[in-house]
Amino acid sequence: MENFAELKELLTQPKKILITSHANPDGDAIGSSLGLFHFLKELGHDVTVILPTEMPDFFDFLPSYQDILIYEKSQTSCIQLIEQSEIIFALDYNHFNRTEHMEASLSSSNAYKVMIDHHLGPDSFPQARLWKTEASSTCELVYEFIDLFKYQFPLSIDILNCLYVGILTDTGGFQYATTPALFRMVAEMTEKGLNPNLISDLVNNAYSYKRFRLLGFSIYEKLELLEDINTGIIVLNLNDHKDFTIQRGDLEGIVNMVLKIRKIKCAVLITERKDRVKLSFRSKGDFSVQKICAEHFNGGGHQNASGGQSKEPLSKVITKLKQVLYANQELLA
Ligand code: 5GP
Ligand code: MN
Repeated sequence: MENFAELKELLTQPKKILITSHANPDGDAIGSSLGLFHFLKELGHDVTVILPTEMPDFFDFLPSYQDILIYEKSQTSCIQLIEQSEIIFALDYNHFNRTEHMEASLSSSNAYKVMIDHHLGPDSFPQARLWKTEASSTCELVYEFIDLFKYQFPLSIDILNCLYVGILTDTGGFQYATTPALFRMVAEMTEKGLNPNLISDLVNNAYSYKRFRLLGFSIYEKLELLEDINTGIIVLNLNDHKDFTIQRGDLEGIVNMVLKIRKIKCAVLITERKDRVKLSFRSKGDFSVQKICAEHFNGGGHQNASGGQSKEPLSKVITKLKQVLYANQELLA
C-alpha cells in the first residue's frame, strides 16, 4: 500500500473519519464500508459511513446497516460531516464523480484521503492508496488493509461477515476474479469464525416476489439475442419501472443471467430513468466492456463488468449500442 506508514501514524490518535463509496451501492460497496467501519471503531475512532444513494434492502442483515447515512436523503448533515472529517476513505470507486451529488463537497474537502479500490483508471486525489485491479473486490483489499496493522485482537465476526459479502457478490459466488490468495483468505476467514453458508443464504436467497417476477419478465419478454455477435440485450423502459415499481436492488443480478446462455460473450441491461439512460455490461474473456463504457458511454469499471450512462433518448442509446457492438464484431465472434 502506498503511504501506509503515514496513514498508520495518523491513526495512532482518535480521528474523525468518513467512509464513502459509490452511488447505487452494491454488496462490495456496502460490505467494504461496514467492514472498515467496524475495524476503525474498534481502533477507537469516530467513524461515519455516507453513501450517495439508497441501498438494496436485502443487505439489511449487515451489522450497522441502519447507521449508514444516505447523502440524497440527508444532504445538510452529510455536507457538515464531510467538512468536519479529518480522514476520508474512498472505497470501491476511484473518481469522485462516482459519488454523484457528493462530488463537490468531497473534492473541496481538506481531509487526508485514502483510496481502497480495484477499478481501472484511478484519479490522483488520494494521499494514501491500496489499489489493485487484480483484486476480486474492495472487501478483499480491506481485509488486506486490516492485516497491515498487525492487529493483536481476533477480528470480530461483524467485520468478517461484512467483508465476505463483497467477496461473494463481486466474484459472482466465486465464478470469476478468483485467485489462490483469495481462496486462502476465505479459508482463514472461515477459521476465524465466518459462516459462509449463512451469508450466502442471506445474500442470494433474498428475492422479494416482485423482484423475482421482474427477473422472469426481463428474460421472457425483454431479452433480445443478437446471435451473430453472441450478445444479449435487455431493455427496461419507464413503463416497466412503473409496472414493477422497480426499486434499488431490484435490478441486481439480471444482466448476469444473460451470460448463462451458451456462447454468449456480452450482456447488456439498459434501463431508462427519468433523467438519463443507465447501461450495465457484463462480458466473458477478452472482450473489454470497460473499454466500450469508457469510450462510448461515459463510464467504466472492470474488463468484464462495467457501467455507463447517456443523456440521449432510449431509442438512440439502443441504436448506438448496437452500432458500437457490431463495429467490434470480430472480437465477439
Ligand atoms: P453494475 O453494472 O453492477 O452497476 O456495475 C458494474 C461495474 O461497473 C461496477 O464495478 C461499477 O462500479 C462499475 N460502474 C457502473 N456504473 C458505472 C458508471 O456509470 N461509471 C463508472 N466509471 N463505472 C461504473
Ligand atoms: Mn467492487
